[in-house]
Amino acid sequence: MNILLHICCSNCAIYPVRSLRSEKHALTGFWFNPNIHPYEEYNLRLASLKRLAGEWKFDVHYSDNYSPEEYFQLFNISDEVVIDCNGPTGLKAPQSPERCRSCYQLRLERTAEHAQKEGFDAFSTTLLISPYQDFEQIVATGKELADKYNVQFHLRDYRPYFREAMAYAKELGLYRQKYCGCVFSREERTTRKKSNIKVQSYK
Ligand code: SF4
Repeated sequence: MNILLHICCSNCAIYPVRSLRSEKHALTGFWFNPNIHPYEEYNLRLASLKRLAGEWKFDVHYSDNYSPEEYFQLFNISDEVVIDCNGPTGLKAPQSPERCRSCYQLRLERTAEHAQKEGFDAFSTTLLISPYQDFEQIVATGKELADKYNVQFHLRDYRPYFREAMAYAKELGLYRQKYCGCVFSREERTTRKKSNIKVQSYK
């Protein structure tokens, strides 16, 4: 199958890329992550993926015109309030799981749309490897979009391989982020750290 793989970051791409190749699928990555904040962090993750794709020789379609307004619009927040913000935003954070549900929808819908437009047989996402994401919600969103765009959703549960993949990412020297991606996840991590609550090692 000819599969378009949404890639949230280089670390999470490692195992799905190897797995799809071992299943003899033709694979193309797709980068669309307007949730990532701030711009410096976005660039670090993007550069790390570009490095991996270059070394492992797979193509990626980059929707890399940084567009955080697409993410903030989900919550009726003007991106002007937060776009250059490197400290606390003072915003009332939209709560999960609704926040993450909207975030998956935004990113996977763009992937499914692109897959349909470019004639791929299926789409998938590296989010399926992370035990920190809502696997069931990602699957439900993928299946709905598959029906809507008439492109298959290639589903695998990569979660059992997460630790192994992260150890390999460390060996490869890929950039390892400390929070999920959005400004709210960054603030939540800071708050937990200040309160001396054990902070999850994200990768
Ligand atoms: S925590 Fe992660 S998945 Fe949830 S909204 Fe933020 S970036 Fe998206």
